[in-house]
Amino acid sequence: MKISAIARVRHDDRVDDGYEYLGNGPEATGNGAGWVMSGDLYARCTGCGSLMSLDPTEHDDCVCGAMNKDPDAARFGSTLGDAAIEVWDLSQTPAYLML
Ligand SMILES: [Zn+2]
Repeated sequence: MKISAIARVRHDDRVDDGYEYLGNGPEATGNGAGWVMSGDLYARCTGCGSLMSLDPTEHDDCVCGAMNKDPDAARFGSTLGDAAIEVWDLSQTPAYLML
C-alpha cells in the first residue's frame, strides 16, 4: 500500500478533494446564464459553507439563510449574489459523505 494514500490530507469536512469544483454562479452549471438544476450538482454558500443539492424538486435553505431554493416558484439564488454560490459536482462522492 502506498503511504500517500494513507496520509491524504483533508482540509475541510464537507469540501473534499474527491469533489469537483466547477466554479461560481450559474455559468458553472452549464453553458448558459441560467442555473441548470441537477441532483448530481451541489451549491455551497460562501457565507456559511453549507452544501445544498441542486435537485430541482426539493425545497432548501442554507444555514445562514442567504441561499434559498424554491421549486414551487422555480427560484434559486443567494442574497449575497450568484458569485457567492460555489458549484460542486458530488456525483462521485460516497454516500456516507453526503450531508
Ligand atoms: Zn449560507
